[in-house]
Amino acid sequence: MTAHDPDDGLRPHGGLLLPTGSAILTNSLLNKGTAFSERERDMLGLRGLLPPRVFTIEEQLGRVYGNFRRKSDALEKYIFLTTLQNRNETLFYRLVEEHAEEMIPIIYTPTVGQACLEYGAIFRRSRGLFISIRERGRVAEILRHWPDLDVRMIVVTDGERILGLGDLGALGMGIPVGKLSLYTACAGLHPYYCLPITLDVGTDNTKLHEDPLYIGINQKRARGAEYDAFIAEFVAAVQQAYPKALLQWEDFGNTNAFRLLRQYRDQICSFNDDIQGTASVALAGIIAGLRLTGGHLRDQKLLFLGAGEAGTGIADLLVSALLQEGLSLAEARSRCWFVDSQGLVVRHRPGRLAEHKEPYAQDHLPLATLAEALEAHRPTALIGVSGQAQGFTREIVARMAALNPRPVIFALSNPTSKAECTAEQAYQWSDGRAVFASGSPFPPVTLAGRTYVPGQGNNVYIFPGVGLGALVCEAAKITDGMFLTAARTLAAQVGDDDLALGRVYPALSKIRDVSVQIATAVADEAHRAGLARRPRPTDLEADIRARMFVPNYREYV
Ligand code: NAD
Repeated sequence: MTAHDPDDGLRPHGGLLLPTGSAILTNSLLNKGTAFSERERDMLGLRGLLPPRVFTIEEQLGRVYGNFRRKSDALEKYIFLTTLQNRNETLFYRLVEEHAEEMIPIIYTPTVGQACLEYGAIFRRSRGLFISIRERGRVAEILRHWPDLDVRMIVVTDGERILGLGDLGALGMGIPVGKLSLYTACAGLHPYYCLPITLDVGTDNTKLHEDPLYIGINQKRARGAEYDAFIAEFVAAVQQAYPKALLQWEDFGNTNAFRLLRQYRDQICSFNDDIQGTASVALAGIIAGLRLTGGHLRDQKLLFLGAGEAGTGIADLLVSALLQEGLSLAEARSRCWFVDSQGLVVRHRPGRLAEHKEPYAQDHLPLATLAEALEAHRPTALIGVSGQAQGFTREIVARMAALNPRPVIFALSNPTSKAECTAEQAYQWSDGRAVFASGSPFPPVTLAGRTYVPGQGNNVYIFPGVGLGALVCEAAKITDGMFLTAARTLAAQVGDDDLALGRVYPALSKIRDVSVQIATAVADEAHRAGLARRPRPTDLEADIRARMFVPNYREYV
């Protein structure tokens, strides 16, 4: 008896003996709880360790869903789901899959933000690896402590910029854990392959230093050469321990995020979801929105509030798309204007402009406010990525609606409390004409008898499919071309029925199919670019579907 199926590329191969007795009940990947059959109970030494009645997975689902619904608030639901995940992953993923629209906002944004803020207080059991900078020189040894031998997907954070919540240090672990759950739930990546990691380099959040329940190291953030050496040691250790792993950089502060991506993207198969995944999902929304606004991509003018990872990432990918449409680099860049905390990003701003903003610095007089920049640029789309609530005021939205028959208003800042405006405000202030999307979900809005269902520009539409596509073909690296392909593929998945509701993204309930389409397109792109390290199967999509994790119980004996 072995714990896992033989490997055929993306099915885990432990080759390990199946544990028995209480050991199998405490192994979340193998545990079936009350669903172990009579025969399994005999063969695996489970008699007496379980109540006598054997339940089906459907009956178990009824029980856990009922318990989930009984929880009074979102954080309680998060704790409940985390506990279930740590107990029985098959049942957890089946529950998430069957109720995707209800569960995803709990295991990821917006609830995961609150969960991170309270990660110390609600801490029950560790999931993933915490590697602190005090353990420099021992990173390879710590990676070896992880029980699964064939890790293929690592999501790593240093906790410096968690969602729009800032520096949460080691509390940021909720993010890699949540993102990896989404890989499995939304793209069928086997949980065995997934490893969440927090690099604890300290925190500059002084409140955490005083919090008696803080779970990280109590020191200021390491920076400079010490930080860089730690990251270099980590990357080298990952390459050695898990040569097939894809590394996803997640929620790093923007000074490190851009640098690390540049430094490592050709060295190890890796990407930064905050920069590249966000870019792809936002571009998909803009492309799908063209079916409502009626224009061409090359005619769009974007005004961003916020010029960080998300904003300049979106602009960079839009520029790549515009170059493909025949615009020059200068023309393409001139379509993207940015307002950050110091006003319009212009060339002759006092002090040194951050490198990622330089391509978008306009030859324009300084303008202090978003309203002034709006008048000067007259955009077709307003993109909120500032992490600042209510940056899009009634006047701003109304002015966008005066300039455009269908103004595009994306309030992408997370969590919900940080959104630049709510869905209701966007529709109300634009007389129902806004093409609206947000980072965190908003409920439907009814205005003058019409109901609008706002789309959620959630990276979950992109990164699971990109990751799956890269893994199935064992891509040597992840390119911008893959994110562009992913954006176009996602936009093509938006149906007329979605658009009729005002939504520029497909329903989350279709996420597994969306991920398959994206994975297929990304793998295809990798094969065409000569970056795939596995031979191309005859039918790429069928191959991907066949290798996805499906949350059903296996019969062990
Ligand atoms: P970041 O820290 O890299 O950038 C934030 C930017 O906002 C900086 O340029 C900063 O100068 C600017 N800013 C801060 N205060 C401002 C103000 N008052 N007025 C104008 N600009 C201001 O962060 P990021 O990674 O770019 O993320 C920004 C926001 O976007 C976060 O809330 C994050 O949750 C959200 N986000 C959403 C998605 C999504 O919806 N899919 C994906 C990624 C990030």
